[in-house]
Amino acid sequence: MKIDDGLFHPDYKPEAFWWEAARPGTEHSTDLPAATEIFIVGSGYSGLSAALELARGGRAVTVVDAVNFGGGASTLSGGGVSAGINLGKGISGSPGQNARGKDHKTLVASLLRESMAAYEFIGELVERENIDCHFEQRGRFVGAFSKAHYPNLVKKAAFLNELLQMDAAMVPPEAQRSEIGSDFYHGGMTINRAGKLHPSMFHKGLLDACHRAGVTLCAHTKVNGIEGAKGRFAVKTAKGDCTAEQVIIATNGHTGGLTPKLRKRLVPISSQIIVTEELPEDLALELIPNGRTISETPRVTSYYRLLPGDRRVMYGGRARFQDVPAEVSAVLLHRMMTDRWPQLKDVRITHSWSGFVAMTTDALPHMGVEDGIHYCIGCNGSGVAMMTYLGKQVALLILQDGQSDSSYHGLAFPSVPVPFYQGKPWFLPIVGEYYRYLDRMDRRAAG
Ligand SMILES: Cc1cc2nc3c(=O)[nH]c(=O)nc-3n(C[C@H](O)[C@H](O)[C@H](O)COP(=O)(O)OP(=O)(O)OC[C@H]3O[C@@H](n4cnc5c(N)ncnc54)[C@H](O)[C@@H]3O)c2cc1C
Repeated sequence: MKIDDGLFHPDYKPEAFWWEAARPGTEHSTDLPAATEIFIVGSGYSGLSAALELARGGRAVTVVDAVNFGGGASTLSGGGVSAGINLGKGISGSPGQNARGKDHKTLVASLLRESMAAYEFIGELVERENIDCHFEQRGRFVGAFSKAHYPNLVKKAAFLNELLQMDAAMVPPEAQRSEIGSDFYHGGMTINRAGKLHPSMFHKGLLDACHRAGVTLCAHTKVNGIEGAKGRFAVKTAKGDCTAEQVIIATNGHTGGLTPKLRKRLVPISSQIIVTEELPEDLALELIPNGRTISETPRVTSYYRLLPGDRRVMYGGRARFQDVPAEVSAVLLHRMMTDRWPQLKDVRITHSWSGFVAMTTDALPHMGVEDGIHYCIGCNGSGVAMMTYLGKQVALLILQDGQSDSSYHGLAFPSVPVPFYQGKPWFLPIVGEYYRYLDRMDRRAAG
């Protein structure tokens, strides 16, 4: 692909904008202990949230990460904080059979209610731990990508309001500019109970809270093997061995050969983001007048927002499903952004980056126990609230001796139905192109 240098600001950096304020690092890292009660693999939101809950519950906890703390998705995200609406098939399709025998409707209702609890939990955590992370509850606008998608959103709004009192409202095409300075969508839906935060400042706040609570934190400590069973695990790491009573896997889109059974159930997908240079105040205000986060209805979707200070745009999406150089995805994302906002044609990019999210075939995140090892994985691209919440739920499962009130506990966790799939998604470029083709057809068919 030909890269147009004019798109990039002279200060362009191929790394996350968020890292200007809080960069993943090794602060609070110590030596690996020889023994711990609970051993957690992964220092993203889910691992740290689990650790914090367990430490507050009086347990000795160790969290390790193969790289810097927060070196996975948690310092790279778009920072959208939402509930329910992102539970994909969990809303309209059929989530896996619940081990505790709930009927489908009851199960869907409780999964959705818990996703709302996950959203509320972020607010509680930010307040309780005094985390400075620009958490703003200004809602979300979901744009209808084609004319036919608008009536689907009408149904979804009614469903969300009935079940969750979510305060969803429809925005017809003629009123759309009150929410977004664009004619790209065919109207949309607003949800007031949604927000945004600064992902790496939130992560740093969680890490600091874990440190204060007495969690042992070990960076650059890759786990290579786990042997034994509940009560006495031997964890083999690049920095030595550690025995533990319980182990939690919190590796999400970075789940690898350490846990092959879990890896087979996840499809890691690349998600990419660009950030623009500062815009004139009136232009930024015209783009998103109410400061909401923006998402949309196609299969291959984009998510975008203004950054703290309301002068720069962050635009994220699936320019490619697999990892490509940041400069390549930046050009594609800039094109997608200017499809929606032609007025940004000459605006330059200051940052671009990508990270991995973990998709599941039922579009639900999962927590549970496999071979005596606890896990919470499968964010489906939307884990700021859910993975933080599920980390806490896994911790409660341990603190309550295997009892859990969460509907996510005991959900069947389907494997990816691709023969011989071991965790390397060779099929993604084909699936990605097919989805893009279907999206184009949708948009053309109904106008
Ligand atoms: C570009 C992008 C945009 C996103 N935007 C949003 C958004 O707007 N809203 C939203 O809700 N969600 C978003 N997400 C998703 C969100 O970031 C994730 O769901 C969340 O951060 C997952 O947290 P986690 O702790 O489960 O996993 P991660 O943060 O990925 O942490 C997993 C960690 O496990 C470590 N690890 C793996 N294997 C080992 C091993 N063997 N030994 C030691 N450590 C290991 C990794 O190094 C990694 O640090 C986005 C993600 C990306 C990549």
